[in-house]
Amino acid sequence: VFIVFEGGEGAGKSTQIAQLAQHLLADGRSVVVTREPGATEIGARIRKMVLDTHTSASGPVGASALAPRAEALLYAADRAHHVTAVVRPALRRGEIVISDRYVDSSLAYQGAGRTLPVDEISWLSAWATGGLKPDLVVLLDIDPQTGLARVGRRGEADRLEQESIDFHERVRHGFLDLAAADPARYLVLDGTRDEQELAAEIGIRVAKLLPP
Ligand code: C5P
Repeated sequence: VFIVFEGGEGAGKSTQIAQLAQHLLADGRSVVVTREPGATEIGARIRKMVLDTHTSASGPVGASALAPRAEALLYAADRAHHVTAVVRPALRRGEIVISDRYVDSSLAYQGAGRTLPVDEISWLSAWATGGLKPDLVVLLDIDPQTGLARVGRRGEADRLEQESIDFHERVRHGFLDLAAADPARYLVLDGTRDEQELAAEIGIRVAKLLPP
């Protein structure tokens, strides 16, 4: 079973992933918690490259600014390696895989956010993953102002402030549009709700996917 958590900055993915993993482990299940970008050694290098470099939306692309298509390819490279090295082997062993971000992050950030054509990001992602789709996507939705304020308290504000609020709004709506197009595969939750309440709701939904 492959479960993905998605959402904008400060939506609370890490907290809910930790809660779900703990709950499943206590239930005697085998769980692999992973993330994109950066779950593997090679992925960590790609993560550093992509997050340490400013991506130029419209301005000059040069030594210090990454072209949006190059950024999209780096995320796809991380994902291709991640799926092959971590996700598929764990699924083959019958483990529950929980990933912090997956294809939808690319559709939302590189597609809706950077305004690259979403259908192109979609086929790039399908190629990178060999078509592997999650069984469930938990989308923690949050208004970007609120999410960014939460992240600000964690000291990541500098990097994130390079993007406008409009960018983060487009990302948010990108995620919501994906969920609306395929409601059976998504659990959309308000990320500002009480942590324990969210964890309980996620636990109930995930239980439906698991063998008794
Ligand atoms: O979830 P996490 O904070 O680890 O994500 C790191 C950053 O990578 C996010 O802030 C997001 O802006 C960016 N990202 C992205 N496109 C992706 C995945 C992540 O822009 N496909």
